[in-house]
Amino acid sequence: MNTAQPLDPEPTPLALLLLGRDSDPKSERGVECPGDLPAPSDPGLVERARAAKEKLGDKVFVLGHHYQRDEVIEFADVTGDSFKLAREAAARPDAEYIVFCGVHFMAESADILTSDRQQVVLPDLAAGCSMADMATAEQVAECWDVLTEAGVADVTVPVSYMNSSADIKAFTGRHGGTICTSSNAKRALEWAFGQDASGDRDRDRDHARAKVLFLPDQHLGRNTAVRDMGMSLDDCVVYNPHKPNGGLTPEQLRDARMILWRGHCSVHGRFSLESVEDVRARIPGVNVLVHPECKHEVVAAADQVGSTEHIIQALDAAPAGSKWAIGTELNLVRRLANRYADQDKEIVFLDRTVCFCSTMNRIDLPHLVWALESLAEGRVVNRIEVDAETEKFAKLALERMLALP
Ligand code: SF4
Repeated sequence: MNTAQPLDPEPTPLALLLLGRDSDPKSERGVECPGDLPAPSDPGLVERARAAKEKLGDKVFVLGHHYQRDEVIEFADVTGDSFKLAREAAARPDAEYIVFCGVHFMAESADILTSDRQQVVLPDLAAGCSMADMATAEQVAECWDVLTEAGVADVTVPVSYMNSSADIKAFTGRHGGTICTSSNAKRALEWAFGQDASGDRDRDRDHARAKVLFLPDQHLGRNTAVRDMGMSLDDCVVYNPHKPNGGLTPEQLRDARMILWRGHCSVHGRFSLESVEDVRARIPGVNVLVHPECKHEVVAAADQVGSTEHIIQALDAAPAGSKWAIGTELNLVRRLANRYADQDKEIVFLDRTVCFCSTMNRIDLPHLVWALESLAEGRVVNRIEVDAETEKFAKLALERMLALP
């Protein structure tokens, strides 16, 4: 009998963004900018960015994640979510430099999917991701040892969210798993449960249930399992890397179908059931549309749930006069509210408090100008490069995702 766990027994400690002077290549944490940044008050910043980009011509391709500031998005050759951007980069083999206006794990994915002659640049190395930081290679290796000790590793397939470091993607590739995005998480889970990891079809019945280790976002894993796959909350356990054996007994591990890593997005994790009830009271008839990185109770209460791309498409197709409360990052919600303001679509942020992704916001116009001007002068700065061994296995996991039915 599975012992049900509370959804989120205690808050996951936030990985702190260290802005110290030393680099820490084993983590997503950033360092200070090694160059002379233009002053944010410089009135010539827009002109300087334009001039540097023109000078570089086709040699540079600038990617802008949906959550970036408007001042940065203005210079993006293409906008999108992390996976779309990595594929866009790979589809531009002539671009020698890929300037990734997003966060560290996204630039890593772009480096993995682009050719060796292309160099990926992240304008500010402090643009990490608190969710990706919540699963380190050492912690995940220890988790696998715990699963092995409990006798369940051979019936477990890892599925890792795109929002993870290259190390975690490589772990996933090494252990027969796949990467997923918020758009294809259901297909990834169906594929994973269809794998016979043990090679023994009787094992599920005799020994332990086939299961998925879902990294690093517990909410996306739980929401997909329960909402889209028909599992119960009791089928899910949360592995806490800060507790001995993940805080789980071997029996809990054997009974579980979903072993959820105890990570979350610090932006989407802020939305609460109260935010939903509050906006419905304030705006009668409002449609609540949230990202699947939100907590399960928020997703369960929402009218619609979907990835960033789904949110954009839903608002685009929404009829005039409709009202929407959106549970995702504030830069995107503001941009969409402005875009559709003249079409009589009322679009508001789901929560009353401001909720930017602070690490996404590290990339600003001064950092972009610095990166572009440096490249135009022949200096490659803040290059993100994944080592060959990590790249090989991370690519394997990414390719499994691309081959998902
Ligand atoms: S929005 Fe969340 S998942 Fe995305 S980069 Fe920011 S902290 Fe990471």
